Amino acid sequence: MTADMTRLTAVQMAEALRVGEITSVDLVRAHLDRIDAVDGGEAGLNAFLHVSRDEALATAEEVDAIRAAGGAEAEALHPLAGVPIAIKDLIVTVGQPTTAGSKMLEDWMSPYDATVVERIRAAKLPILGKTNLDEFAMGSSTEHSAYGVTRNPWDTDRIPGGSGGGSAAAVAAFEAPLALGTDTGGSIRQPGAVTGTVGTKPTYGSVSRYGAIAMASSLDQIGPVARTTEDAALLHELIAGHDPKDSTSLPDEVPAFGEAARTTDVSGLRIGVIKQLQGEGYQDGVLARFQESLDALREAGAEIVEVDCPSFEHALSAYYLIMPSEASSNLARFDGVRYGARVEPEDGPLTIERVMGATRAAGFGDEVKRRIILGTYALSAGYYDAYYGSAQKVRTLIQRDFAAAFEQADVLISPTAPTVAFPLGEKLDDPLAMYLNDVATIPANLAGIPGISVPGGLSDGLPVGIQFLAPAREDARAYRAAGALETLLTADAEPLWAQAPELSTAAAQTAGE
Ligand code: GLN
Repeated sequence: MTADMTRLTAVQMAEALRVGEITSVDLVRAHLDRIDAVDGGEAGLNAFLHVSRDEALATAEEVDAIRAAGGAEAEALHPLAGVPIAIKDLIVTVGQPTTAGSKMLEDWMSPYDATVVERIRAAKLPILGKTNLDEFAMGSSTEHSAYGVTRNPWDTDRIPGGSGGGSAAAVAAFEAPLALGTDTGGSIRQPGAVTGTVGTKPTYGSVSRYGAIAMASSLDQIGPVARTTEDAALLHELIAGHDPKDSTSLPDEVPAFGEAARTTDVSGLRIGVIKQLQGEGYQDGVLARFQESLDALREAGAEIVEVDCPSFEHALSAYYLIMPSEASSNLARFDGVRYGARVEPEDGPLTIERVMGATRAAGFGDEVKRRIILGTYALSAGYYDAYYGSAQKVRTLIQRDFAAAFEQADVLISPTAPTVAFPLGEKLDDPLAMYLNDVATIPANLAGIPGISVPGGLSDGLPVGIQFLAPAREDARAYRAAGALETLLTADAEPLWAQAPELSTAAAQTAGE
């Protein structure tokens, strides 16, 4: 087991480490080599903005030493100790830069770790580095990063989804077995769908947001990115749990998500197909894979029912008022004084307004500016009730739709994204077309409920994602359904993650130069 060490699930890697078949140092080296081979250069994936070679190897050495010594300390190691992980560059880390994909935070180093990072360090998962994203997590394609686009390993001329395209591409391309993402409107699930990986948006408040750079605080959640539901579930268990540093953190015990993901029994499970999240706007290939998933679940004994969520029609409009409103307030902190970039006007007086203006003009990209303007307008006196107020009412209606749907069904199901990965550049000049990618993922954020995207097969050689949604605090139920579908779809087929094409030699060669 050498060259193929990266082509395993996290659970398989953990087992190989536990029995001493491989060492964590070898495992980390194999991933660093893979990153060197495919990530850099003109045609490279650019999934990573920063690679923390020394730190990852130091953690790996520490885990190997503990294992070699045996005894109580080795026994007490976390099951995922020694398995490497990548972190979305929106989550702050001591000793590694955090840019949020923005020039505003170029070279900025956080003085503290996010709570999820603290937990990952305590469990001794070597951190490989920080992954690319749309600037401040605003986007669905990772094309809005100030540090270049990330490419989709399934077709390097296509987008890897967004905003967490870097984390998804890294996992799909065997650069990392696990990653962390953030999901405000779909940024874990939609990249998961278009890269053939698994991504979870946990129940709002169940994973600490402390140290995730705020985009829209009432919607943001950190969550796991992985190859299988079980891998995602185990990482989810590790990062979840109460955190006094996050005022919206739930006090709940963390359920055994891994166990739920391993359950393959769906008999009697009522699965609700959301009427509004299919049909017009969804590609035929996506709908075909969706239908096959429903058939497989039905055959396995699940009861498939249709649920009606009429307010979902307005979910996108409500999201694109609430999200920019909160972002316009959250991003006010980037003022050229407190954090990161500072640009002084070339001539004229050095007033705070002028420094702030020059800094924000130079530091933010177009999409971020668009949303700050939108949000500021929506919150302004005179328009507040008409825009922000109405959007909040729609939010309540969406929550009611979900409540009614969960009376009829235990979990809900839909395609994760309406299309497969689209070509780079295709929607870059059309914000509305870009926003439409999140039509199926946004309702969960507006309601605070958990959602998981799992691979549902290929359409024209590109991955399709299937989304499961569950009531708040019932993430385990979503894992159960998602794990069962994964088992059904891989009964006679190789899992999708293992089918990811070798990167074209052109990409690999340029990247390796
Ligand atoms: N694509 C959505 C947006 O642009 C969601 C982003 C996210 O979840 N961070 O707002």
